[in-house]
Amino acid sequence: MFWLDPWLFDVPLKDKFPSLFHLEVVKTCSVRDWLEGEGLWLWRHDPDSEVERIEWQSLTSVLNLVRLSSNPDCWSWAGLGTEGFSVAVVKKLIDSKRDYSSRIVVDWCKWVPLKCNILVWRAVMDRIPTVDALAKRVVIVADEECRFCNAGSDTVTHFFTACPLALGLWEKNSFWCRVLNFFVFFRDLLEIHNSGIRGTTERNALHGIVFTACWVLWKARNILRFNGKKRSVDEIFSEVKVVSFFWFKHRAMNGKFVGRDWCKFVNM
Ligand SMILES: [Zn+2]
Repeated sequence: MFWLDPWLFDVPLKDKFPSLFHLEVVKTCSVRDWLEGEGLWLWRHDPDSEVERIEWQSLTSVLNLVRLSSNPDCWSWAGLGTEGFSVAVVKKLIDSKRDYSSRIVVDWCKWVPLKCNILVWRAVMDRIPTVDALAKRVVIVADEECRFCNAGSDTVTHFFTACPLALGLWEKNSFWCRVLNFFVFFRDLLEIHNSGIRGTTERNALHGIVFTACWVLWKARNILRFNGKKRSVDEIFSEVKVVSFFWFKHRAMNGKFVGRDWCKFVNM
């Protein structure tokens, strides 16, 4: 189609010459109709404004260079690459326009259940239903403060890294696993297992403990918000230790690990 297909430029002529397109009566006319119409084009009126005349001049000058052949139409690849169209070239073209600079790739932990990995993965993208995230999606929740401290907002950053409840839990975890207690944002938590010098199993264990702690914390938040039951830091920490031990023993160590070593975080 003369106006609607990008046959002469990368964009259709209707975008290149919008004033002329506005004047056109038959907007679905074909290229052949236009070029072989010998000047018998159907305008609402002849181009007379300044803009219309300028567009008309530049359109006629490019059309003068066009030569139609009697060959059938065929597709041609106008993108990158000298080797023509391929899926790989299309992928490269799409990727070249994306900005990956702020992308965070979550290192999944194999010995915790999928639900923990998915929670962490969604949390790091701010896609768990906190009050703040819901508000961005026009779901307004009346009680917008963190229920544990009533001082911060219900956001991923506050709840997992700034709330006194979370800080208390991470302090206990740090003491238990002998790691430095440093983080500012949620994504910092996901890198703790890579800090310091430790063996693969210990690193793997720490990785899963952080994921388990996030899961238990989020569960405690929901129990308080929806059932009104407030859990203490000690209760949450105990659950993290027990649940993570159970998962680690049976999902990572084939049932061969003792609770005593887990409590001391040794012999891994
Ligand atoms: Zn709080």
